[in-house]
Amino acid sequence: MKDSLNREIDYMRISITDRCNLRCQYCMPRGIKQTTMSDILTFEEMAHIVSIASKLGIKKIKVTGGEPLVRLGCCDFIKMVKNIEGIEQVTITTNGVLLNRYMNDLIEAGIDGINVSIDTLNKELYQKITGFDKLGEVLQSLKTLTNYDIPVKINAVSIDLYEYGSQNGIDVLKNDYQNLIELAHDDKIDVRFIEMMPIGYGKNFETINHQDFLQQLKRDYVLKEDQTIHSNGPAVYYRIDGYQGSIGLISAIHGKFCDSCNRIRLTSQGYLKTCLCFNDGIDLRSILRSDASNKDELLAAAIKDAIIHKPMAHHFENMEEISEDKNMYMIGG
Ligand code: SAM
Ligand code: SF4
Repeated sequence: MKDSLNREIDYMRISITDRCNLRCQYCMPRGIKQTTMSDILTFEEMAHIVSIASKLGIKKIKVTGGEPLVRLGCCDFIKMVKNIEGIEQVTITTNGVLLNRYMNDLIEAGIDGINVSIDTLNKELYQKITGFDKLGEVLQSLKTLTNYDIPVKINAVSIDLYEYGSQNGIDVLKNDYQNLIELAHDDKIDVRFIEMMPIGYGKNFETINHQDFLQQLKRDYVLKEDQTIHSNGPAVYYRIDGYQGSIGLISAIHGKFCDSCNRIRLTSQGYLKTCLCFNDGIDLRSILRSDASNKDELLAAAIKDAIIHKPMAHHFENMEEISEDKNMYMIGG
């Protein structure tokens, strides 16, 4: 359906868990108090919401988290959602640690695309950022993934790795991001850099301005704008001659794309969010768990109402206006 600004809302991200097997400094550092499982929606409840949302025009689902693959039954859930009438595409965003283990199950479930988050290829720095020495497992998963005919994207939050490395006594090449870009050389993998957003612990990090980053990239590579459609998202893509994959920039702060925003987000606790920046939205869990006999009607009305009131644009540029106080691992990115 369309929102009040005529934007077609057809994409829903679902954080299926707020648990994670990593502790990224900007998302879920150590010491987080966990939500009790009974507060988290069951897969049946999530699928119920998807079935109502699909009747309102949601066609594409992103399964995210926390780390979606730590929740037992994730692949069965994907299969369940793939079978819902009107749902055309289900993709997943994962940190890749458990991907090798679940690869066949994901393919069998009919997954349409896999995003793997890797911020650096420096083993020590990866450990510093994520809290775990797991880069080897992630790269192994990535290698296995290239044997399958499935769209693969890398998500790398733009951190000044050189600066961050020197603050932590780790020797990192000034242009470490070039190593990530090399992942697009031999394989058809899109490497996307994401501007750090001031949500939750992301507020403790400086956002690298992607306008500046793009200038740096243009000094290092001959970039050609890539107009082909890669996904549902807001990335602006570039091609480099001789590289199989493209390079994408997702620049929520310095390349605002709210005019074409097509998404809503369901948190693991069943709150339907309409913009990352604000707390606006609606608690669908209380409807799902109520005694109402007309739950489907109530859910549809609530989802419609939330979409109609989707904010025009985020105000990340003005910290005082950010009303979202949930952390990214609850929202799903
Ligand atoms: N655990 C999975 C993963 O890491 O891909 C899925 C959940 S994670 C919250 C989804 C994406 O959000 C990841 O690519 C992560 O790097 C990104 N992310 C987390 N905090 C962020 C922030 N403050 N700004 C921008 N991206 C962020
Ligand atoms: Fe976990 Fe993903 Fe957040 Fe890292 S970004 S802590 S992997 S949910």
